[in-house]
Amino acid sequence: MATRRCPSCNLINPGSATVCDCGWSFVEQAMTEPRHLSNDRESEEDRRSQASRQIVTGAIFLGVGLILTVATFGAAASSPSGGTYILAYGPMIYGAITLFRGVAGRNG
Ligand SMILES: [Zn+2]
Repeated sequence: MATRRCPSCNLINPGSATVCDCGWSFVEQAMTEPRHLSNDRESEEDRRSQASRQIVTGAIFLGVGLILTVATFGAAASSPSGGTYILAYGPMIYGAITLFRGVAGRNG
C-alpha cells in the first residue's frame, strides 16, 4: 500500500500516514482533532505569552543586576578601605539573554 486516500477530504496520504492533515485517523477510521490547526493556534498564543514573560523576566534581571552592580560599586568606591563590590553580571547576562529570546520569540 503506497498511498492512502483520505475518505474525509480525499487527500492522498503516504501509506505510512496514520492521521490525515484534516484530522481523519486511518487507524481509528474516524475523525480526530485536526492536529496542526488547533495546536498551531494554541502554541502561537503560548509562544507570545511566553515571549512576553521572557521580556519582563529579562528586564527585571537586567535591572536588578545593574542596580546591584552600581550600588555595590558606589559603596566600594566611597569607602576609604576599598571594600568589595559585586559585579552582578550573572543576573545581567541571564536577563539580557532572556530579554533577547523574548523579543526574538515575539517577533519571529
Ligand atoms: Zn483528510
